[in-house]
Order: sequence, then structure tokens, then C-alpha cells
Amino acid sequence: MTTVTETKLTQVPHVVGGERILADGRVGPVFNPATGQQIAEVALASADFVHEAARAARDAQKAWRDTGLGKRQQVMFRLRQIISERAEELARIITGEHGKTVPDALGEVARGLENVEFCTSLMHHLKGDYSEQVAGGVDVHQVRQPIGVVACITPFNFPVMVPLWMVTTAIAAGNAVILKPSERDPSAAVWLADAFAEAGLPAGILNVVHGDKEAVDAILDDPIIRAVSFVGSTPIAKYIYTRAAENGKRVQALGGAKNHMIVMPDADLDAAADAAVSAGYGSAGERCMAVSVVVAVGDIADEFIEKVTQRIRGLRVGDGFDPDSDMGPLITRDALERVTGFVDGASGEGATVVVDGRELDVSGEGFFIGPSLVDNVAPGMRVYDEEIFGPVLSVTRVSSYDEAVELINANRFANGTAVFTRDGKTARQFEYDIEVGMVGINVPIPVPIGAYSFGGWKESLFGDTHMYGPESFNFYTRRKVVTTRWPDPSESQLSLGFPTH
Ligand code: NAD
Repeated sequence: MTTVTETKLTQVPHVVGGERILADGRVGPVFNPATGQQIAEVALASADFVHEAARAARDAQKAWRDTGLGKRQQVMFRLRQIISERAEELARIITGEHGKTVPDALGEVARGLENVEFCTSLMHHLKGDYSEQVAGGVDVHQVRQPIGVVACITPFNFPVMVPLWMVTTAIAAGNAVILKPSERDPSAAVWLADAFAEAGLPAGILNVVHGDKEAVDAILDDPIIRAVSFVGSTPIAKYIYTRAAENGKRVQALGGAKNHMIVMPDADLDAAADAAVSAGYGSAGERCMAVSVVVAVGDIADEFIEKVTQRIRGLRVGDGFDPDSDMGPLITRDALERVTGFVDGASGEGATVVVDGRELDVSGEGFFIGPSLVDNVAPGMRVYDEEIFGPVLSVTRVSSYDEAVELINANRFANGTAVFTRDGKTARQFEYDIEVGMVGINVPIPVPIGAYSFGGWKESLFGDTHMYGPESFNFYTRRKVVTTRWPDPSESQLSLGFPTH
């Protein structure tokens, strides 16, 4: 006879109307990816629960819209203080459920914080326009008004930064939010809801609703929710974009990526190798701006691969809480099997596995794979054509700059790209030629600072508005144009002609 000891798992609750609410139905597992053990369960919302949360958000939003901009700004200043002072605590929540190293998680928190800092000047970002005397005695002004209730649906790989990309501006602009974080690492979103509340945000303005497809579909169909911001994989982004748009919602849906880094023959190869290894294997390659393909131009490939290989041999893979680890595990066992599959298939497709991450020897049940380097990769191979989202760096050899640009421009993804060169003319030409949304010149992960906006092209973004920064104030507001005249009561205003100046 076996004795089963039941341990009660902590449940990650929803936060709606300022209340923590436990599951009344389905729950999902939350793992520590470094041990492979389930550490918690998360409530999974039903469609009815989502609709109820949307109603609560709508009821709360009216008063938030009426709240003066100065008061809203104060919330942002206090939030900045809370997150800065407790960044380590938040980073450790990320590491516990995502697996990335604590320093990497701290970097994520810092980049998320930029969005809060940007919104501390929300009064400036919400300014309108005014044109005096557009016709005799007629003035025109434009104001920005909130949309109402908006939904933010986020991926697992940045459980703090991506929610902050969205909810901060949405709230600053006077909206109420339903945040649906990834069900794989949901606790950071609850921490953020608490932090906003502590900063003085009224209950019901930031609601966290956990869930899977059922919750997302309910969001897409709910008539109260007027706009949807999404970040995740391309097939889901396309689905979200289509269904939300069909329901008349404003939508921005950011998808996957395949980021190329060109190394020109004149580049500083040591600096380029440092960049490729940092950007290829940081966060175990689970970044939408990770470098996935190095495009080696001319005859530098062998020397470059040698330099990259040396650096890979020095990387330490382990628990993200271990200060000696450079790289943590993948998010789930499924992700591990998927990424392993790309390395398994590479040789059969004609590529050369130079460093094989499958050989990594780590004890325990964690979702670990070591860094892999695959040479002679070309379009038509699965390892090239698909987004891997793991620590697998490919090298594609081309003979010229033109061939490199043609390769990148033919790719269906267009999130980020970079060129490494010492030649200003090549760099300028690259910036001009390349059909990608975010470009680095000797910078491997060109994520724009908070004062700009973030977004790729092609299948990396469905919709036309980039995220955070100035463009997000456009996304989260509706512009209203008012034409004003104070006529002289003694003059007749009767005229059936179309008004002109
Ligand atoms: P994902 O698409 O699996 O999930 C994203 C969100 O969609 C989650 O909240 C999830 O619950 C929900 N979802 C998943 N399947 C769904 C379905 N069938 N119907 C409705 N909703 C569903 O993405 P992920 O694995 O969490 O994140 C990794 C992906 O996100 C990668 O493709 C990465 O490139 C992308 N990403 C893109 C950016 C960007 O800025 N372009 C940033 C970060 C991540």
C-alpha cells in the first residue's frame, strides 16, 4: 500500500474590484522550471467571470476618468517609488516562476519601470491641440479622452515588463484595465496590482483575471471591453487581431520574431561575438528580441564561430537563483521538448551542430537545455523558418551585404535586427534598406527606451500602433475635435451652404 501525502498548493488569485478572488472552477499548474516541480496553482477564469470583471471595471472607470491629471500623476510617482524600492522582491517572483536569473529579472523590472517613469508626465502626454481662428470667429481644439475598459493579454517571457508596457499608459490615460497575464507565471501580475493599489490607484481600475483560451475568448467577445493589447506568439496574435477587430475593438497584437544580426567583414569580431552570445542566450533565448540568426558576411564565419564557441563554453547553466548561473531553464517541459526538437532535426536538414546544448548535464527534473550553436543554416530548414524561442543560435553564411539584406527582408518576421560594422556608410545604408521595425547599429537587442515606442513589422505586429511610449497614448485615447464659435446674436446665422472657411 502506498501512502499519498497531499500538500495544499497556494493558489494565485484573480484581483477584481480590489478583491482577491479564488477559483470557483478550473485551476492550472504553476511550475518552478528549475526543479520541474509544481509550486502553485492558478485560478482559470470562466467566460462569466470575465464578463463580471468587465462590468466591475466599467463601474470603476467613471470616477477614474474624473480624477484630476495631477492626482493620476501622483499615483505614477508613488508606483515608481514602490517598484524601485522592492525591485529585488519582484525579480525573485519572476525567477521563481519563469526561471530567468535574478539579475536578468532585475533588468526586466528596470525596463518596465521606464514606462512608469514616462507616465509620471502623463499631463504632458495627454495634452490636446488648439487652432485659433480657422475661420472668422471659429476656433478648433482637440482633446484626448479615455476609451473606457481595455484588456491587456501578456506572454510568459516578461511577466512584469510587458504588463507595464500596457497597463501603465492605459491607466494614465484614464481607462480601467483587465490584465490577463500568462497562466504559466501569473504571480507577478498580482504583485503589480497590489503595488498600484498601494500607490493610490482606486479599486477596480487594474483587474487581474487569470485564464487560458476560455478567458481570452470572453475578453475578445465582451462588448464592454473596447480595446485589446496583446503580446505573444504570431498564430495567437493573428487570431486575437482578427476576432477582436471583427467585434469592433481597437487592437494591437504583437507576435513572434526571428531576429538576424549581420556581422560585416570589417566588424570588431570580439565585440560582435560578445553581443551574439549575450543576445542569443540571455534569458535562455526566451526574448522576442533575442538574436536568433547570425548572418556572417564574406569570409569571417569560421573565425567568428570559433570566438562564439569559446564564449559558450564559459557559460554556466543552472537555477536562476544561483548567483553563478548565467542562464536558467526553459519555461515548461513542452518548451524544452520543442527546443530540443530543433537541435535534433538540424543535422538531418543539412545544418552543422557546432555546440550541442542537449549534452548539458544537470541533475534533477528542471527544464534545462544548454546553449546550442548551429552552422550552415539556410531558409527552407525548420531551424531557420520557425521561431525557436530557446538558446539556439544559428549561423547563415552569405557572400555580400546585399545578400544579407535580401535574406532578412524575405523573412516573414520583422521585429528586431542589427548590423555589426565599423563602416558608417554601411550602417546608414542598412538602416535605410532593412524592412524591420527595430534596428540596432552595433547594438544587438535594440529595445527602444520608454520615450519611443516598441513594435515590429510584418508578422511581428498586427495592427498599426506600436506599444508603450507616445504611440500608446494614441492607442489608449480617443481624439475628439471640437469646433467653436461664439456668434454675434445680432447677425443672422441662416445658411444651407456647406460650411467652408
Ligand atoms: P502565447 O501566444 O502562447 O501566449 C500569449 C498569451 O495568449 C497568454 O496570455 C496565453 O494565455 C494566451 N493564449 C495562448 N494560447 C491561446 C489561444 N489558443 N487562444 C487565446 N489565447 C491564448 O505566447 P507565450 O508562449 O506566452 O510567449 C512567447 C511568445 O511571445 C513568443 O512567440 C515571443 O516572440 C512572443 N513575444 C513577442 C513580443 C513582441 O514584442 N513582439 C514580446 C514578448 C514575447
